[in-house]
Amino acid sequence: MSRDPHAARTVRCPQCGGDSRYAPDNPWRPFCSARCRSVDLGAWASERYRVQARPSIDDGDDLTSLPH
Ligand SMILES: [Zn+2]
Repeated sequence: MSRDPHAARTVRCPQCGGDSRYAPDNPWRPFCSARCRSVDLGAWASERYRVQARPSIDDGDDLTSLPH
């Protein structure tokens, strides 16, 4: 419950899975960089997320839908 303005947490970047500094000095949070954020936005625009958001009621094996 601390409100230390200098407090910073390290979270996992949703895009690359790397360490991301979740702090006011990271304008790309929760992403680690501008590149990761732009990639994520691009994914939304290309409807990739819409496909991934479909409930898998068959067998739950999402990997079978990925291209090789
Ligand atoms: Zn990243």
